[in-house]
Amino acid sequence: MLERPVDTLPGVGSAVKRKLGRLGIETVGDVLAHRPRRYELAAEERTISALFGDEEAVLDVRVRRASSRRRGRLHILTAHVVDSTGEIRATWFNQPWLEPRLTAGTRLRLRGKQNRFGFQVSTYDVGEAVETADFAPVYPSTADLAQKTLRTVTESALPFARAGGEPLPAGVRVGERLPLRADALVGIHRPRGDDDAEQARRRLALDELLTLQLALRRRSVEREALVAEALPLAGSLTTSYRAVLPFTLTEAQEQVIAEIDADLGRTTPMQRLLQGDVGSGKTVVALYTLLRAVEAGRQGALMAPTETLAEQHFLTLEPLCSELGVRIALLTSSVTARERRAVHQLVASGDVGIAVGTHALIQREVDFADLAVAVIDEQHRFGVEQRAALAEGRSPHVLHMTATPIPRTLALTVYGDLSVSEISAPPANRKPIVTAWVTEERSGEAYGRLRRHLDDGRQAYVVCPLVEGSETTIARAAESEAERLRADELRAYRVGCVHGRLKTAERRSVMAAFKARELDVLVATTVIEVGVDVPNATIMIVQEADRFGLAQLHQLRGRVGRGAEQSYCLLVSRHRDELSESALERLEAMVATSDGFELAERDLEIRGEGQLVGARQSGLTDLRFTRLRADRDLLERAKELAGELAGEPLLEEAADLLLGAAEHVGES
Ligand code: ADP
Ligand code: MG
Repeated sequence: MLERPVDTLPGVGSAVKRKLGRLGIETVGDVLAHRPRRYELAAEERTISALFGDEEAVLDVRVRRASSRRRGRLHILTAHVVDSTGEIRATWFNQPWLEPRLTAGTRLRLRGKQNRFGFQVSTYDVGEAVETADFAPVYPSTADLAQKTLRTVTESALPFARAGGEPLPAGVRVGERLPLRADALVGIHRPRGDDDAEQARRRLALDELLTLQLALRRRSVEREALVAEALPLAGSLTTSYRAVLPFTLTEAQEQVIAEIDADLGRTTPMQRLLQGDVGSGKTVVALYTLLRAVEAGRQGALMAPTETLAEQHFLTLEPLCSELGVRIALLTSSVTARERRAVHQLVASGDVGIAVGTHALIQREVDFADLAVAVIDEQHRFGVEQRAALAEGRSPHVLHMTATPIPRTLALTVYGDLSVSEISAPPANRKPIVTAWVTEERSGEAYGRLRRHLDDGRQAYVVCPLVEGSETTIARAAESEAERLRADELRAYRVGCVHGRLKTAERRSVMAAFKARELDVLVATTVIEVGVDVPNATIMIVQEADRFGLAQLHQLRGRVGRGAEQSYCLLVSRHRDELSESALERLEAMVATSDGFELAERDLEIRGEGQLVGARQSGLTDLRFTRLRADRDLLERAKELAGELAGEPLLEEAADLLLGAAEHVGES
């Protein structure tokens, strides 16, 4: 029942289906699991004569007469409505279907605000239903999918709430004083009040955490069976590495290295998550870890989520490796089959000490002579369990890195089977980046500011708008934006362009030119999100910033502020009124703080916790109802209950699904 596609629900046609699909809602079960981000507050009920200013209020009225007219594309529906104290005009915009229902004498419950047109209605009930205008759910949505539609779709899915069954044994449920799961599913969408909604949410959160616990228990049993070879103590290669670095490692980096060294000395494979904000110095630690494998006469692999990121890592590591006499290879699909075979051969024979490539490529195509250490960058892009496949096939020591800082408690929950290290402070005493947000009309000023930096001998980034489509479409859009800037705002300057369609050599030469100050401005797609490191670049303009995610904006911003100079990030967006609520919140958050951890928390609030890892297929991290900071008690309780509830069929089934879904991620 719950697996049925959304368009089996009444009123869901192909257009709505497609829009729901963009929110990751494909089945009836997905509809029920789409948690409201908040509820409309109960508004004061007033009589017409007592309406006051523009405060939100609820009216209980009857229709006297209704009529409609058009103004351009706007359909305006007006109803004269009365109660015992007076009469007022109520207006609706673009809801022509409502008109036939507004016959004289019809009872209405209206929620809205008084303005110069009369009473502008936001939500309403026709007839005797008297509840939905209060605590109406507000869902995470996209610009083209109205709350009203989501509410209607949810309404029609609610009768299926019972189809999922009751996973908790009655004893446990009653002991925890929790509602039935089916009632909780209804309660989360149609609460009678805030308490009701919260109780429903906590019930669903507990199910989710129990499922997670059962899945993690199975995982750790599997893990304990794995064996890795312990590496000998740090040797001369890592000593030379420290000497070759143009700086000394910070205390935070040393601390992490000590933790890693301890892990590497054990016969259980390391499974450590290294998190630190952009620019905190994780890459330096990653190379240390890889070199530990090489100095033991074995191999290391660095895996990135995309070819571009793999390449950027390679470009960073190669100079250091060559100075140390360590052979490093980039595995990429953008070379001929022959060249590829040659590189694979070098890896298979052990001639290459460190291989860099995408996770997919390394896992699918490459045989290592003797892989001892794997570093997996930007874990959050994969979905958690993609890492497992590699770890299980070969049992190397694994270090996961993420630049999207995850609050520690959350990390421990979501990656319950990993140890967590954190680089909490950036290397130098860098100045926090100043971030400003301007609307498009004022983007001229933003470019003026950028030119002043260029005139002072600094460099700049311009990030292109996000466009949907293939790499080729995106690349074309970037090229033409660079062209436009060369002809217009940046006429007098040397402007380069990078995107995902450039060949490795081309991209390398553009990046090298930028680094060597032969270019003033780099126009780029999000390929510069991670890994680009030019301290002389002190200003960045992000075009159409409202379309980027918060984590992405923070990553992009991390490209400036890498030197001692004050750096700036200018976010350009459409006008406030045209932005969705969440876009506004994201931009405000970016301006308010440059602390990655704080932003990560805001991101959770804005998107809902479960969306942290981005994709639905993120397996173990797909928490929809849990609020990790608020629900620590539930998490503890779930840990305690997991033993007792192991074997409960519906929970085990959910755990199967969780692990199964996760297993598939790596195959795409
Ligand atoms: P991350 O990978 O966490 O984003 P990087 O390792 O790329 O950070 O480091 C960011 C920048 O800081 C790089 O230019 C790097 O060379 C520099 N850096 C790293 N560690 C130190 C340190 N201990 N002292 C000074 N600079 C450092
Ligand atoms: Mg880095």
